[in-house]
Amino acid sequence: MSVTVRFAPSPTGLLHVGNARIALLNRLFADSLGGRFILRLDNTDAERSREEYISAIKRDLSWLGVGWEHTVRQSDRRPSYHTAMARLQAAGRVYPCYETTEELEEQRLFQRGQKQPRLYDRAALKLSKPDHVRLETKGHRPYWRFRLDPYDVQWEDLVRGSCCYHGIHLCDPVLRRADGSYLYMLPSVVDDIDFTITHVIRGEDHLTNTAIQIQIFHALGARPPHFAHLPLMRDVSGQGFSKRLGSLSLDALRWQGIEPMALASLLVTMGTIRPICLHSAWGELSAAFHLRHYSHGTPRFDESELWRMNARLLHAVPFAAVNDKLTALGLPKVTEGFWNAVRANLDRLETAGTWWQICTSTIVPKIIDAPLCILAAGLLPDEPWDKTTWSVWISALKTKTGRTGQSLIRPLRLALTGQDSGPELSVLLPIIGRTRALVRLLQGRCTPATAASGVDSVGQ
Ligand code: GLU
Repeated sequence: MSVTVRFAPSPTGLLHVGNARIALLNRLFADSLGGRFILRLDNTDAERSREEYISAIKRDLSWLGVGWEHTVRQSDRRPSYHTAMARLQAAGRVYPCYETTEELEEQRLFQRGQKQPRLYDRAALKLSKPDHVRLETKGHRPYWRFRLDPYDVQWEDLVRGSCCYHGIHLCDPVLRRADGSYLYMLPSVVDDIDFTITHVIRGEDHLTNTAIQIQIFHALGARPPHFAHLPLMRDVSGQGFSKRLGSLSLDALRWQGIEPMALASLLVTMGTIRPICLHSAWGELSAAFHLRHYSHGTPRFDESELWRMNARLLHAVPFAAVNDKLTALGLPKVTEGFWNAVRANLDRLETAGTWWQICTSTIVPKIIDAPLCILAAGLLPDEPWDKTTWSVWISALKTKTGRTGQSLIRPLRLALTGQDSGPELSVLLPIIGRTRALVRLLQGRCTPATAASGVDSVGQ
């Protein structure tokens, strides 16, 4: 049977790095076996699900490079859930309950006080037919629970190895609310069956759900898929990630200038037995991926590591691979020479724009040695300029001043760029051009117009 996986976010918030890792591993797993990836939108919670989050999920996955072959919305699948529910009902595997939320909360608090596990006491199973009639006549509408069998549920998890849960330690889950809507548990199983999902790869927060869902698969006469549960990521301080808090959302990282391959590389190697490795193309990621490399240990997501990887990626990326992105950033005139000069100084792509602005627009120069700058202005070679102009100019200045190293370069850099550090001036200078260089070196002593007309007399 061909492999089919699914990534099943609830559209109640933005995807964070933890969600992204699960999506990525599903995609890579499917790719490694020539399989399909289904994007399932778990929007059974009508109140909290939002159309804007569905769009954001699709946009963020596409940005990361995670594509999908098919989309399923659970809100479109209610007839299938009704059919499954009727089947469970006919088989006596679901039962109606009438407790109010307050009564259930009381039960929970009592159990907590007694240090007992949080289990439904199955009081509803003891109700007689006349009890049901009496309650419903009084206007109580039932909610429905799945009756778990007391047997041990076992599976061979592709990450955790052998797993076993005792049916008697699990709580009969609510499948359907009194208002007729479904909770997560049943729709997930029904969809996994109907879309012939072969492998469920998700976070270990779903381990107990898996034990319950395996019983639901069996009750519906279906074979459960293979399961792989990955440990949940935490940040360096040990905090988990929450979709609702928007912490480390893909959207925020994209806006801040993280490159998708830097994030994907980090997420894929985190929590494996292999060292963190930067990949520059999707094919390399797939080639390096194997589910058996993932360990039980909690992966720690270090944002500073991500930024380091982002910088390393940008330093290595050739002009041809970034040209379109630069154009999209409003930098269509950037040249290969400029890119090669600045990329080693970038932590994010947008910073290339900052350097382009510095070279081609008006800046506030920093003059820390006015006499030197005036002298340097007078020695600027005539145009046309190329990458040799800098060395010709500096040689002349060295001869004239006897200065070398930073005592010569630093005042020029601050005057020409307004910055204390940055890309090689030999490449920036021809882009800045003679007119702008003069204006900057002679700050306050000449304008672009006078500079363009020549300043041979200035500072000589
Ligand atoms: N909507 C569920 C979640 O976001 C999906 C869990 C699953 O993969 O079955 O946790």
